[in-house]
Amino acid sequence: MKYYNLKDSLEKIDFREATIKGQGKEKGLFFPENIPQLDKEFVQNLHQYSNEEIAYQCMKDFVGDEIPLEILKEIVAETVSFEIPLIKINEQISILELFHGPTLAFKDIGARFMSRCLSYFLKDQQKKVTVLVATSGDTGGAVAHGFYKIPQINVVILYPKNRVSPVQEKQLTTLGENISALEINGSFDDCQNLVKQAFSDEEINSQLFLTSANSINVARWLPQQIYYLIALKQWIQNHKEHPVICVPSGNFGNICAGLLAHFRGLPASHFIAACNANHVIPDYFKTQNYQPQKAVATLSNAMDVGNPSNFVRILELFGHEFDALKNKISAYSIDDDETMSTISEVYEKYGYILEPHSAVAFAAMEQYLQKNPGQKGFILGTAHPVKFADAVEKAIHTQIEIPDSLNELMKKEKKTVEINSDFEELRRFLLHKI
Ligand SMILES: *Cc1c(COP(=O)(O)O)cnc(C)c1O
Repeated sequence: MKYYNLKDSLEKIDFREATIKGQGKEKGLFFPENIPQLDKEFVQNLHQYSNEEIAYQCMKDFVGDEIPLEILKEIVAETVSFEIPLIKINEQISILELFHGPTLAFKDIGARFMSRCLSYFLKDQQKKVTVLVATSGDTGGAVAHGFYKIPQINVVILYPKNRVSPVQEKQLTTLGENISALEINGSFDDCQNLVKQAFSDEEINSQLFLTSANSINVARWLPQQIYYLIALKQWIQNHKEHPVICVPSGNFGNICAGLLAHFRGLPASHFIAACNANHVIPDYFKTQNYQPQKAVATLSNAMDVGNPSNFVRILELFGHEFDALKNKISAYSIDDDETMSTISEVYEKYGYILEPHSAVAFAAMEQYLQKNPGQKGFILGTAHPVKFADAVEKAIHTQIEIPDSLNELMKKEKKTVEINSDFEELRRFLLHKI
């Protein structure tokens, strides 16, 4: 499989190079040259396959012969080595719990796949790679755990001081070894700007081989298709109708992976992009005018994105046809008040505890179903409620149970380097401290 740069379709590279590089010229995203169809029998009989087998069938065409079959099978098995249950909340709405991995967030899946592919591709090389990421919370932990102790890879994570939750902070600052956490006196946007400057700095790039690990990287984006198939495997055992699929969205990598799976043959009657108060995409659906905004801070902080990078991939999938896009996807914006009241109501009515991101999805799904009664579907549960305990406990007036693994984590000591939002300080760290 070849991947082309969406900014310059003449730049075509294979999966290996796309994994190592992350993005192409002019910061363009890579996109698969063709959309490999899933075998129809396979899709109809998903319930007869193990999650590992589903993951392998899903990924093999994208990787081709660049990773030997046996090794790819090991990689995908490690990628989905935890439970991904589809739980019914009420008659219309179920939730796919994607938060049973090591950092209790769906990003574990993409990060595990990408880290193992990158490690395979670097195995016989002298090259050392530095993965540089800015995080508003969840990405940092998932990437840190995905790459922990992987040879030839150093990870440097930038996060905004005092703006990630206590659990998120521990997840990204306590590992040590090849993982460094930089605590930035500034906002998430500042962190992102610093990372961008580093990627375009000649001196740094002449000494270090930098790559990113966000959903721009195809090796992190593509494996997110896997759990849509795992959801469907469970869905078809109880339902005849095709599901409506609602995805809490920030950078739009997750929903874009679901749409890609749909174009390959995954049945779905409709997709919903559930956004928080950052409503660039809901506005686009209303006006057909794409206006990036400065991100505003919300309770669902992993979706505080004002210019979603993966949206161009969605446009590409739909051949830039606005009507086709609008027929398949609806977009909603849910504010913090509604997020909080949704968490309370769902807890009172059904005894199920949502966290803010999944609550945004639940509220969007309810709005859609009100206009389209008779349909059913599932939302993607992207994080465990304990990661956002403050907001959740305030909404349900009850303390939530802390998993044992987290109690252990919270006892560990935080190790960070604090720097100002100043590129010279980052440069000094990258050139001399790792
Ligand atoms: C990253 C994240 C999202 C948004 O996913 P995108 O792929 O950026 O749209 C939603 N919920 C949680 C908990 C996240 O960490």
